[in-house]
Amino acid sequence: QKEEWAKLKDEPTMTADKEQVELVANIGTPEDAASVLDNGGEGVGLYRTEFLYMGKSQLPSEDEQYEAYKSVLEKMEDKPVVVRTLDIGGDKELEYLDLPDELNPFLGFRAIRFCLENEQIFRTQLRALLRASVYGNLKIMFPMIATLEEFHQAKAILLDEKQNLQNEGTSVSDNIEVGIMVEIPSTAVIAKQFAKEVDFFSIGTNDLIQYTMAADRMNEHVSYLYQPYHPAILNLVNHVIEAAHHENKWVGMCGEMAGDAIAIPALLGLGLDEFSMSASSILPARSQLRGLSKEKMASFKDKLLSMGTSEEVVAFIKEKTEH
Ligand code: PEP
Ligand code: MG
Repeated sequence: QKEEWAKLKDEPTMTADKEQVELVANIGTPEDAASVLDNGGEGVGLYRTEFLYMGKSQLPSEDEQYEAYKSVLEKMEDKPVVVRTLDIGGDKELEYLDLPDELNPFLGFRAIRFCLENEQIFRTQLRALLRASVYGNLKIMFPMIATLEEFHQAKAILLDEKQNLQNEGTSVSDNIEVGIMVEIPSTAVIAKQFAKEVDFFSIGTNDLIQYTMAADRMNEHVSYLYQPYHPAILNLVNHVIEAAHHENKWVGMCGEMAGDAIAIPALLGLGLDEFSMSASSILPARSQLRGLSKEKMASFKDKLLSMGTSEEVVAFIKEKTEH
């Protein structure tokens, strides 16, 4: 099987009925970019920048970040690289920042919430990204967006730093798409309103599942409720994709679900454009997608979305994809 997968490394990701989707990877450090290419990744769908900030005694400087972003963009050449701005808090702590102890860290002061309150830290990261943007195909993504105002605020700061850099004579790419992670139910529910304003969505199912099911993703006592195939999740994902496509925007998924062999046929049928996963899942996913018909999967959509339980969903997908 490994040999068969290896042959697909330089092939496009094409379904049996000749529909193309994008298979990209999640990375945490610039060094990970090499394995994305080795595994036939078509780009980076999620660069988790937290690791630049973790395991050290102080914040990374603008130049340090610039070098990291530049190196990923250069390695990936013209392939898309979606960089997520700092998603600290929740389960990810920074010792040197003295963040408050919270009763519910996953519902607390994290990600974009932290960045909008600590604007200097946010601006430093955005400047580093904007300076690096001329070296490749950069897309910027904001995490944990719960309201339109947060997106407006974050984007205004980004545009302000772009202007500042240009005033200083620094060149910045003019083709940077700006999108958001859809990982909070409020945003998934009003995806239509967001779709008019963002350039793309990337669905973060790791968090979207925990918030939709009210089941902490780290708590084993409630892990039985952490159900990727729950019809509530599939309906939200479908709603987000329809909203985006209505505005001609693309939708990716960068949660674990995107690389899951049971979820992939369903996501293909719902019309997901980009699947972002760990590099090692890319070739198996490409191989699977080549055997699936998008049209056929799409024809099961209404049935799938009207089911009542995860169990029914899984049984149905298995039945329809068995040869
Ligand atoms: C997600 O929530 O699905 C996601 C990709 O982000 P993280 O796992 O880093 O929270
Ligand atoms: Mg998340």
